[in-house]
Amino acid sequence: MGRIEYWLLGAVGALIIFIAVESAKSSLQPRRYALQVQQSGHPRDVDQSVSASMSDTSSAAEATPAPASVDVHSAVLRSRAPVPLRNVAEIRRRITDGASRTYILDLLASQDSVLFRWPDSQVRVWIQPDPHVRDWWIGYVESARDVFLEWQTAGIPLRFTFPTDSTGADIVLRWIEQFPANEMRIGLTRRRADQNAWVTHAEVIVALHDNDGDTFPPGEISEILRHEIGHALGLGHARNRGTIMYPENTQLDLTETDKETLHLLYTLPPGKVK
Ligand SMILES: [Zn+2]
Repeated sequence: MGRIEYWLLGAVGALIIFIAVESAKSSLQPRRYALQVQQSGHPRDVDQSVSASMSDTSSAAEATPAPASVDVHSAVLRSRAPVPLRNVAEIRRRITDGASRTYILDLLASQDSVLFRWPDSQVRVWIQPDPHVRDWWIGYVESARDVFLEWQTAGIPLRFTFPTDSTGADIVLRWIEQFPANEMRIGLTRRRADQNAWVTHAEVIVALHDNDGDTFPPGEISEILRHEIGHALGLGHARNRGTIMYPENTQLDLTETDKETLHLLYTLPPGKVK
């Protein structure tokens, strides 16, 4: 072989090594996907009624509904859930006390200062058992149930039941192949709330594949479930990357901060905090 041929061989070899190293690097760096929540429902500004009545303890029954022209969120579904008792001084005290060990302030900042939560009661959860989606595994139903029970260890006044029929379910969890390629998304939660910011329904959608069609390993499916079910229970996003409610898939397990935040949320009434 002549000199030029050796040179070419060397150049091609270097290129192959470069490509191999780059592709190994990119497979080591997990792609970040958005884990999202959509909230519909526009609770009345309960605090206005509190200041108007000059009382710390008030009920939202005294508040007038927002004018129809302002209320562009047509998905508010009125419910007969009890009107929450609100003691504004006590709400503020608890939030201040819990601020350093939770992400309650992030939650308020991302939700226009509104706390959304379920009323103390039974919550019926239906987990789709037969999605006919590629790479789906029956064990994921159990994984999803386990995640509800993990969140329950935060000490919240909810009792989860898992009916086999979706009719009348409060939370519906479905599996899909993948989200559209233009949405860098792997999970989505649609939450509905009533006039007092009680959550009345939630739909969780979990994809089994990323945008390239690659399958998530079961550990990552559980991670997505933890995040989206956190939304379904009322949590918003946290700014701390080391928590499950960070809006990208960076943290696998529930942390004490996650549980403390959910616990704090369920010691507070729903509604606007200002
Ligand atoms: Zn999210």
